[in-house]
Amino acid sequence: MRQDLKQIEVEKLESFFYSVQCAQAPLLLLDYDGTLADFRINRFEARPWAGVRELLAIIQKDKRTRLKVITGRPAGEINAMLQLPEPVEVWGLHGAERLLVDGTREMQEAPPEAREKLDELRAQLRQYALGGLFEDKPNGVVMHWRGHPQRQAKSIEQRTRVLFEPAAEVNGLSLLPFEAGIELRAGRDKGGAVQAIVEQADADVPVTYLGDDLTDEPAFSAINQTPNPHLSVLMRREWRETAAEVWLQPPDQLRWFLRRWEMALNRTGAAGLRMADPTEIRLRA
Ligand SMILES: [Mg+2]
Repeated sequence: MRQDLKQIEVEKLESFFYSVQCAQAPLLLLDYDGTLADFRINRFEARPWAGVRELLAIIQKDKRTRLKVITGRPAGEINAMLQLPEPVEVWGLHGAERLLVDGTREMQEAPPEAREKLDELRAQLRQYALGGLFEDKPNGVVMHWRGHPQRQAKSIEQRTRVLFEPAAEVNGLSLLPFEAGIELRAGRDKGGAVQAIVEQADADVPVTYLGDDLTDEPAFSAINQTPNPHLSVLMRREWRETAAEVWLQPPDQLRWFLRRWEMALNRTGAAGLRMADPTEIRLRA
């Protein structure tokens, strides 16, 4: 595994953690699947990587960090998976749903024609899932092909696109491709969720977002565009073209990031400017 970072990435990390060190209420925004936890075909088995829950619990106990998860899953699933001492705020369904820590749930309403089209597709896909795994969401329909051999995956994708692409023309609906599937959905995307969160925060609040998938790209772009101190992080084993400012590899560099966050809160680690442990992160040529 590569553990080296480019100089520009190190500089961005250092200056961001310096802003966290000085902040009263920094925003730590996290995707769940692929970012905090490895993928499982059965998503209810996707638990956080070793040590991640403990690090998040330490950050949470400090009380300053506003920790929020932005996920494609229904929001209600996340706190049961994370099992932190306190529940966190979750923006579910890629941002269309918001679940506050007191249990209050807000859901964006889709236009009637979008809801009608989704109902029609649900009925159809329940009968026959085109060879893939059909997932029914309150604001969309999803086709997964993770785990299928490449040729089979391609054929599921083609058949799904024949069905979803014309439907995406309906008012309120859009296509959201991700790495092993595609979703036809209504409502805010992750970029919209980041924007809504940042708009409610003060202008000097540092904000970061960690994500792995194509659906996280709008969130990276939204982070990059805020005037607040910010950092967008692609947390993914393999590099890919991305809007994120920094690429880190889970789970080691995720643990490193969270430890570094905790150190910034405690203003330790060479006044917060040095990397936590130079043997963990080296410069990428
Ligand atoms: Mg993900």
